[in-house]
Amino acid sequence: MRFIVLILLLLLLSVTSAFAAVDVALHGKDPVHIEDVYQQDGIPYVAIEDTLDAVGLTGHWDSINHKFRIKTKYGWAEISPASGYLRLGDEFYPLKEKPRFIDGRLRITDSFILNQLAQLTGQSIYFRNLDPANDNVEAKKQSTLDKLFAFLLNKKGNKGDALLRAVAIDPGHGGLDTGVIAPSGYKEKQLNLAVAEKLAKQLKMKLGIPIYLSRDGDYELTMEQRLQTAAREGVDVWLLLHAQAGFSPDLQGVSLFIRPENVSMVTATDSVDVVEKSDSLLLAESLATVLKKNGIEVRGIFHSSRLSLGRGNLPTVQVELGFLNNPEESQLLQTPEYQDKLVKALYSGVYNFAKQAGKKSDDIK
Ligand SMILES: [Zn+2]
Repeated sequence: MRFIVLILLLLLLSVTSAFAAVDVALHGKDPVHIEDVYQQDGIPYVAIEDTLDAVGLTGHWDSINHKFRIKTKYGWAEISPASGYLRLGDEFYPLKEKPRFIDGRLRITDSFILNQLAQLTGQSIYFRNLDPANDNVEAKKQSTLDKLFAFLLNKKGNKGDALLRAVAIDPGHGGLDTGVIAPSGYKEKQLNLAVAEKLAKQLKMKLGIPIYLSRDGDYELTMEQRLQTAAREGVDVWLLLHAQAGFSPDLQGVSLFIRPENVSMVTATDSVDVVEKSDSLLLAESLATVLKKNGIEVRGIFHSSRLSLGRGNLPTVQVELGFLNNPEESQLLQTPEYQDKLVKALYSGVYNFAKQAGKKSDDIK
């Protein structure tokens, strides 16, 4: 009996883990401080009601259907702890993490706030994890992941003669994790891999350097395996490839995500007011410039708190290649011609960034 109590207690401890606090706001508004936050595996879980309040939306728990319903300008959006999808009308949008009941309240993660809620409000959202979990004894234990993060942190930029020593590319999703699915059935995991393989070929052919793909087929990877690719010897640039699904089928274009920095959010129209730009921002700007030159719409450069995991100075950009639920763009994204166009621009963006970093001139287009 005593054992059972002990096990239950341990389970309870491991489930609730560390307390945290976050600030949430619509971009440009005063942040709302929320302390009823549970941190699990480094991911903050915030009660959905608190979050909706902070961004000016309303919703309620539907106890009959066991769903939480959010009132939006697109209609009712529904999430439930049993489902990894947000439902809006007849459409289902994959969530990075399922909502969870913790301590009697339904909670969602930072990824939900920054992606789904930002789209439901139609505005960008400021989110900051104040992360007192660092004071927690558990959090201080160095996991393999922590070691990898530390490695990336210490990773120095390319200081040799070569433009780049190696590039790591992470095609998002794989296996059972399909990512976003287009109306035609075409899956994000397929697009990410197709573009990654083409881009790897371009880089290898033109620069003659090793290119590391985190996966070369249709299988699932752990976060650790993805990071290991980036931590390989000589890797000077890390690109993560993904695609999106918008709540409006009209959304289109490429979005670029980098780690959070001093500024809370950067958009294509904002002037970036930081004294020294990070290498990741320079890489993202270089990619944006060439994509635009090639006639591809760029929605902007955004900060993703998800990429904060890597916190290092390895130039890292997550490229959202387009919207798979936009009928026209989805069609385009499935054609080898448009994929080649994206690849050509991504290659040139990486190349120009490397040259700029090496203080050389004459960009290619
Ligand atoms: Zn994705």
